[in-house]
Amino acid sequence: MPDAFQQTIITGFLKNMLLISPILAALLGLIIGSFLNVVIHRGPAMWKLVDDDSRRGNLAFPRSYCAACHAPIARAHLVPLAGYVALRGKCALCSAPISIRYPIVELLGAAAALGAYLLFGTTVSAFLAAIFFWFLIALAAIDLETGFLPDALTLPLIAIGFAANTAGFFAPLTDVVIGAATGYLVFWVIGALFQRLRGMEGLGQGDAKLLAALAAWLGWQAIAPVVFVAALTALAGIFVMRLAGRETSNTTPIPFGPALAFSGALIMTVAAIAPESSYVAVLLPIFP
Ligand SMILES: [Zn+2]
Repeated sequence: MPDAFQQTIITGFLKNMLLISPILAALLGLIIGSFLNVVIHRGPAMWKLVDDDSRRGNLAFPRSYCAACHAPIARAHLVPLAGYVALRGKCALCSAPISIRYPIVELLGAAAALGAYLLFGTTVSAFLAAIFFWFLIALAAIDLETGFLPDALTLPLIAIGFAANTAGFFAPLTDVVIGAATGYLVFWVIGALFQRLRGMEGLGQGDAKLLAALAAWLGWQAIAPVVFVAALTALAGIFVMRLAGRETSNTTPIPFGPALAFSGALIMTVAAIAPESSYVAVLLPIFP
């Protein structure tokens, strides 16, 4: 049994930990975010989805290099965010612009960790939720850049969701098994019908697997709100593209993956804030 003095020390230490934990979470998120950038850049070539020699390499080697001149990036410039700021968004050697995607993904990685910490505290749930958000960031960015949602990410996301919910972290196991199957089938059927009617792919297999993954984490109850919010997000995305002067038509492929990813992250957040209430009741004030 610690005496009074030791108790004071321990309490003080714990209080300080509580103060620095959000900062630690955000820093860890920044580091993971810069790893996500490697996955986003090299993954599609590694998984043979795109044929792009400038994207070769695996997740560990070679060290990060400039996409334009292939010069390895100096160690000091690999520091998340600070490196990008120090270089003012340009390669130190050839001055080619470095994609704004790098700092954005790093910031999102930090936001994911911080958000998971704020929602769940210092718990296993927080760690799992951060993993969920990180996968969604990588999937959204890869879909935006290549139009693919790789099986190498969607299938593990389904598996981790099942594993987490076997222990009941986010939803009952029956709900998530029914959800994953339903989510996949619903999009598969819509995709097949669309293909039959329009002769082109509207919803890909990847979208079906991503919806299955979201339901594997959140349960079948989340499918309708996830699809609803994703549809609104996709429409907003098209609207912004038009405002930005990009030509869009009925045949412009809509990357539905990023919309689904955003929607899944939002519903996970809503479910964590208000686990008792129905999604609809919580979402109505957001979308009047
Ligand atoms: Zn360069």
